[in-house]
Amino acid sequence: MSEHVLAELRKQLDELNLQLLTLLNQRAKLVREIGEIKKKQGVNKFDPEREKDMLDRIVKHNEGPFDDHTVRYLFKQIFKASLDLQIEEQKKTLLVSRKKQAENTVVDLKGTLVGNGTPVIVAGPCSVESEEQVFAVARSLKEQGVRLMRGGAFKPRTSPYDFQGLGEEGLKILRRAADEYDLIVVSEIVNPGDMEMAEQYVDVIQIGARNMQNFELLKAAGSVRTPVLLKRGLSATMEEFLFAAEYIVSRGNTQVMLCERGIRTYEKWTRNTLDISAVPILKNESHLPVFVDITHSTGRRDILLPCAKAALAAGADGIMLEVHPNPAVALSDAKQQIDIPSFETFMKDLRASNLMGNQERVLERK
Ligand code: PEP
Ligand code: MN
Repeated sequence: MSEHVLAELRKQLDELNLQLLTLLNQRAKLVREIGEIKKKQGVNKFDPEREKDMLDRIVKHNEGPFDDHTVRYLFKQIFKASLDLQIEEQKKTLLVSRKKQAENTVVDLKGTLVGNGTPVIVAGPCSVESEEQVFAVARSLKEQGVRLMRGGAFKPRTSPYDFQGLGEEGLKILRRAADEYDLIVVSEIVNPGDMEMAEQYVDVIQIGARNMQNFELLKAAGSVRTPVLLKRGLSATMEEFLFAAEYIVSRGNTQVMLCERGIRTYEKWTRNTLDISAVPILKNESHLPVFVDITHSTGRRDILLPCAKAALAAGADGIMLEVHPNPAVALSDAKQQIDIPSFETFMKDLRASNLMGNQERVLERK
């Protein structure tokens, strides 16, 4: 007899479970509709006041046997799941996502296209130190058919006692050298208030690893129309990296390029660990061009070439590296920069690898 009762009760429980499931999904649909309306109104999805009111109302009607605390806990889980559902949907449609835009974003830097299948090299000193230094590098870039020149004028140094960069004067030097040799200037900006000043001198605003989550800086970069090279944070996940890019793109600056520059791990034989898997992941997840900084990711000159090849083989749109006329006396990153003859050898070897696509043909035509 009791066997029969048990079976009957279980049957009722199964039915209740299904009813609960139906109700939960009905609730989720309602929440989604509300989310859509809030999105149109530009209102924040999570409303703690409203959540508190709902919980209070539920508890007021609680007749047990669950105590109020348990009821609150259970409903909070339901609320959280609904909110996660909305956030998940929003994530799926990030502006930087491939799901939003299937075709690659191609950034046009005065005729040099980034992201159209032909790899692009960005090279130059870690810091701008003098006119002579920048011009020496610029000449070599020109000879090598490399159009993008990097150089830091505002240096976010780990120690406040280290060289902090020449500031606006450094940007002026870069501009003069770029104008002389028809190059594109890529330089880091660290202060949101400097964006408009920087636009007078630079063609690409770099946002450094240490500032990847400096949200005010990202917003400022999103408000100008100069292309941005956004470097991955020292320990940033792919998701955090793409959200950082989304900050810029959602403000209207769609010309964003991503740059994997190594992440912090326990390994000491490299300065950082080059996360080569970031390249295909970013290329799959996002339509933005992807660079790999082989200098900061490795911190060593002896493995630049294989790392550059690996990056290009993994689908990178470009490579960044540091070149200095006399690395031994460089005011920053003296250990990792390469000199001009080594840069020329590097370029020769990279071109010989057949990973450079049309770039090789461009050089042959010269
Ligand atoms: C740089 O490229 O000059 C630089 C400081 O690199 P990161 O921000 O990746 O450390
Ligand atoms: Mn450097």
